[in-house]
Amino acid sequence: MQVFFVGAGPGDPELITVKGRSLLGQADVIIYAGSLVNPVLLQFAKQGTAIFNSASMTLDEVLQTMETAVNDGKLVVRLHTGDPSLYGAIQEQMDALKAKNIDFEVVPGVSSFLATAAALKQEYTLPNVSQTVIITRLEGRTAVPDKEKLASLASHNATMCIFLSVHMLDKVTAELIDGGYAEDTPVAVVQKASWPEQKIIRGTISTIAKQMSEAGIGRTAMIVVGRCLDANYELSRLYAADFAHMYRDAK
Ligand code: SAH
Repeated sequence: MQVFFVGAGPGDPELITVKGRSLLGQADVIIYAGSLVNPVLLQFAKQGTAIFNSASMTLDEVLQTMETAVNDGKLVVRLHTGDPSLYGAIQEQMDALKAKNIDFEVVPGVSSFLATAAALKQEYTLPNVSQTVIITRLEGRTAVPDKEKLASLASHNATMCIFLSVHMLDKVTAELIDGGYAEDTPVAVVQKASWPEQKIIRGTISTIAKQMSEAGIGRTAMIVVGRCLDANYELSRLYAADFAHMYRDAK
């Protein structure tokens, strides 16, 4: 195997997987998504590794760099932020490699929506509050299918993690209310979860946009919406004394 798509994790260099870190140490070529990947991770590379920042490259240039390296017998790591399967634009790279008969592997990473839960010290799936997490985004230059518009997803009142949308918070909150969330539904915005400069803003659907513009929060932020953030929830059945399961008898 010569090409690995590796999830870099949300920012903290200790949140890459052991496998990802070891591949960074073996790679001859690293192509990293410079807009979001923490450059400190590049210190795990060995001396002499060729390092490319894909922020200034086209898809063709990325593919060409991979192909040339593979033909030279080199090991390539394509480093994507968080987990590569979410808003990573990796499908087009993987399909192009398949077409060229270049084999590859994907190494998952800690997605930012999980680092956000950790920053908030929050469980997203509380009994009787929500057992569903919706991962979505507002439409930007990338279109979102009609059936997945924020307003229609909001009708479930599930926990929502909204990526790539913090710069359009007014629109996000308007759609959430259109969709049926109450105005006092709690919202948390976490900027740069797991980075030293991490910031947390908590409010409600009706207050968060103003709070955010006062705080001057930049783009790399996750919006979490849902009653889990202030919930009166039932204790989980998993640890309940009268609840038997595969590994424990009821007391
Ligand atoms: N594949 C990545 C997401 C890439 S899309 C992942 O799994 O996390 C980029 C968006 O992810 C940003 O606009 C922001 O909404 C979110 N994001 C990435 N890193 C983040 C972080 N450290 N804290 C909060 N949000 C982050």
